[in-house]
Amino acid sequence: MSVYQVSCPARILFLPEELSALGELDGGFDVEPSLWCTLEAGHAGPHHVIAQCVRGSGPTAPWDMWARWGDDEYGPGRELVRLDACPAKFLKGAVSEEGCHLPLGHPGRHGYEFGPPITAADVLPDWLVRRFFE
Ligand SMILES: [Zn+2]
Ligand SMILES: [Zn+2]
Repeated sequence: MSVYQVSCPARILFLPEELSALGELDGGFDVEPSLWCTLEAGHAGPHHVIAQCVRGSGPTAPWDMWARWGDDEYGPGRELVRLDACPAKFLKGAVSEEGCHLPLGHPGRHGYEFGPPITAADVLPDWLVRRFFE
């Protein structure tokens, strides 16, 4: 689930029928009209983003409903699909353990190995760095 660009520059705009299907799930997120792909930029295969985390009931653990789509956003292969999560953990067992948050078998690096693209706007200008850090 990302309303911000993570790495891959592909974004999905949900269709009315997809929004209503997502709205019918017992989900933990507000349904967003548009989400960014959460895979690493330049990945192979379709784009993926978690469209909703579903609470689950009784013996059913919470699960993720993913949206996936091809480079032709409205072309074949576009679907909402339940996928298992990648089990990789960074610093497994530590307090600062971080999950991958990508689907099982995803292409590219794990989610904790890359972040949002850095632009000039994210970097402090030289004079400010000198003022505060020298
Ligand atoms: Zn992508
Ligand atoms: Zn992973």
